[in-house]
Amino acid sequence: MSAYRRFRDRLRIGPVQVATYYDARGRDMHTAACTAPGCGFSADYTSRAAAELAARTHRCKA
Ligand SMILES: [Zn+2]
Repeated sequence: MSAYRRFRDRLRIGPVQVATYYDARGRDMHTAACTAPGCGFSADYTSRAAAELAARTHRCKA
């Protein structure tokens, strides 16, 4: 499954990238993904505030 996601409104908080995209049904979705090597954290949220909060409070395992 490799759905093409068109990210916009990208924001970087520490090692975590937050971006907004439309899901397959055209709804606004928000994702937070850590770019640190070996971390692998990534999660989707229905609200931008939730995604930004997750990015701010994220702690890398490494
Ligand atoms: Zn991390």
